[in-house]
Amino acid sequence: MLREGYPARTVRPTGRRTHEECSSGSTGRPFCVQEDAYTAGWYRASFMLALQWSGWGIGDPQLQMGMTLQRSRGRKAKDLLLRCHYVSAYDLRDAALDAHLERIDRSELRHVWGYPGAVYFLARRAAETGWCRELDAVVTWGDTLFPHFRKTIEAAFRTRVFDTYGCAEGMQISAQCGHSGLYHVHDLDVVVEYLDDDGEAVVSSNPGNLIVTRLHPGPMPLIRYRVGDVGVAGEPGCGCGRGFSTMDSIRGRETDVVVTPSGNRLIVHFFTGVLEHFPEIDTFQVTQERPDAILLRIVPGRGFDDRIRERAAVELTEKGADLRIEVETVDEIPPTPAGKRRFIVNRLPSSRS
Ligand SMILES: [Zn+2]
Repeated sequence: MLREGYPARTVRPTGRRTHEECSSGSTGRPFCVQEDAYTAGWYRASFMLALQWSGWGIGDPQLQMGMTLQRSRGRKAKDLLLRCHYVSAYDLRDAALDAHLERIDRSELRHVWGYPGAVYFLARRAAETGWCRELDAVVTWGDTLFPHFRKTIEAAFRTRVFDTYGCAEGMQISAQCGHSGLYHVHDLDVVVEYLDDDGEAVVSSNPGNLIVTRLHPGPMPLIRYRVGDVGVAGEPGCGCGRGFSTMDSIRGRETDVVVTPSGNRLIVHFFTGVLEHFPEIDTFQVTQERPDAILLRIVPGRGFDDRIRERAAVELTEKGADLRIEVETVDEIPPTPAGKRRFIVNRLPSSRS
């Protein structure tokens, strides 16, 4: 309903200038929200707080692996202010990873931030090449930090990983403090509920659908918004002494990686980073069954035609998907039996490495 009613029935005036943020949303379908500086200020403050829990402070330079290579004026100002070395997570070939490691060395960076999948391949490359430098902390966001990702990153960089949890709709929800495995909810900005499929609250310690309400709603209030992930509430209290409520775990962001013949690794954000700019694509799924090809299944939206189909494939290729891309349009992409969304399905025997 939020998608269909946007913006006429979901946006209200706040007296502030608003801007639109569009993303692939929680289900892979394009989703746009309107926010103003006040709303954005709150989730950015939550995120800064989470970064500081990792031991990072303003003034400490860091390497960030990301997909927003077109740095807007605002993003450039942020990079400058926070001393961010922003590098591409589209290209995760060994040569690119070596360049990033060299940059960490040269600029004496002690903090690395980014998607778990991207940082994992950086850490694996560091271990393979005997690169040896101790980092202060790694902060991750955006998809699942698998246990083997954490283990590899922490061993290679001799540090701790602080995972954070937010949603593409412009909310920072929770972050790890480093003392325990718990995620502290940003209670000052969001309320988290855990509900079963009938909308009833689950008994604590049972997994429930995450329902989030933003306390600083701004131009587009999100009230009891179903994020699309499943989470488990944590026990109250954490040894670190922070008073915020806690989450024990988050599920639903599990996804595979596509490996190309030239050795590039395409994480889920590679595909969403390209395809979210195609409003004509409703949702998609990528399947790899052969080393040299992928099948891109698309649920077409309004305005989708052969030209869009071709342009999507060309852009994926240009960004680093150097393998054959077969495109198929389908009416729907069924969720997994557990009801989870899955953007990438890798059926190659070696895909778990
Ligand atoms: Zn804590």
